[in-house]
Amino acid sequence: MQQHKTAIFPGTFDPFTVGHANILSRALPMFDRIIVGVGKNAGKHPLLSPEERVARIRQLYADEPRVSVESYDNLTVDFARQMGAQYILRGLRSVRDFEYERDVAAMNLRLGGLETIMLFCDAQYASISSSVVRELIAYGHDVSEFIPSTPHNQR
Ligand code: ADP
Repeated sequence: MQQHKTAIFPGTFDPFTVGHANILSRALPMFDRIIVGVGKNAGKHPLLSPEERVARIRQLYADEPRVSVESYDNLTVDFARQMGAQYILRGLRSVRDFEYERDVAAMNLRLGGLETIMLFCDAQYASISSSVVRELIAYGHDVSEFIPSTPHNQR
């Protein structure tokens, strides 16, 4: 029997943006199952608790049985092993992301035998980051265009 292709999509997702949603939708045809791994450590000034981040993403993908959402606070390779995943999914916005992502991918291959699949983000999402969205919220700006609100299959 062929092994199911399972990927984890790790990140902080504080908050989950339309850029994250775009990567996840585009990766779905490539895998049997994608587990969104919400890292609990969101730095010093988190906007949302891990529970809130998980709940929001679950709601968006409630009608997509191939997507599940879990929080974790161990090493990504250990979380992937627990989940039975063979791949890590990441998005690349620009050369600024590149060197960091290359180093992390090399380490995850070395430590856990996990291949990282990276998708280039759509140009229209290249400037969207959770940190910019948090800053806009802090100054009372409307961020609805950056945050997915409708469930995955209704977009
Ligand atoms: P991390 O703190 O691990 O970078 P993030 O939640 O910021 O977690 O991002 C998770 C993943 O989503 C990363 O691979 C990141 O490069 C990617 N990503 C973030 N923003 C975008 C975007 N606007 N378009 C495409 N990919 C993105």
